[in-house]
Amino acid sequence: MQEKELHSSCAKCEKRVCYPVIKNNAEPDMREAPPFCPMKLKAQEIKKAASTYKEDAAVREFARLASLQEAECYEQTSQGLRTRNTRVEEIIQFAHKMNYSRLGVVFCIGLKNEARILDKMLEIHGFEVVSVCCKAGAVAKESLGIKPEQKIHGPENYESMCNPIAQAEIINSEKVDLAILLGLCVGHDSLFIKYCQVPITVLAAKDRVLGHNPLAALYLSSGYYSRLMHKPER
Ligand code: SF4
Repeated sequence: MQEKELHSSCAKCEKRVCYPVIKNNAEPDMREAPPFCPMKLKAQEIKKAASTYKEDAAVREFARLASLQEAECYEQTSQGLRTRNTRVEEIIQFAHKMNYSRLGVVFCIGLKNEARILDKMLEIHGFEVVSVCCKAGAVAKESLGIKPEQKIHGPENYESMCNPIAQAEIINSEKVDLAILLGLCVGHDSLFIKYCQVPITVLAAKDRVLGHNPLAALYLSSGYYSRLMHKPER
């Protein structure tokens, strides 16, 4: 029987050689790394990434400030290491670190109330905010080949399509420093990310059932969502 070709499978790793608890002057023990470790399989790609950080000063600075932001989300207390910043605070702090002044909020119409709050919050923290709703353009879903009976609100009603490419083009034209994604649908987010030319961060991923906390399905995968851990019947 032919052996299955190995590919990077960090999610299955129990060794975590890449994140060892050792002193500064020690080296991670690569012999402990599993055969599917990308440090064994993809050394060239890791090298390529290292030269990008080295050769591109802007990328290096971006990465340095992101790393600093990460560290500032923890604090040492008498009870040990504690977390301290919510994601929205992190975005505000990181944008200040980067000296950004103009932010884009790219939102789904289903989160219009959240978009209003975020817009206000970012303005209070000193940013100019450009916001674009997913329905901008008011293009009928039929233009994508959607049939009347495939619409959410019934065949007799007009329905605007989500228009992530228009959102990206508008954000690109507005020359924002950073685009913040707020609840775009699966797939629409992919298109926005493909066409947007400015750095993007995600404040929230849409989950209509779980209050935009998609990980709840994973946390409950041994209980209410155990169906997701079984192969579906054909
Ligand atoms: S990089 Fe290697 S050691 Fe780190 S999690 Fe992935 S497989 Fe494990």
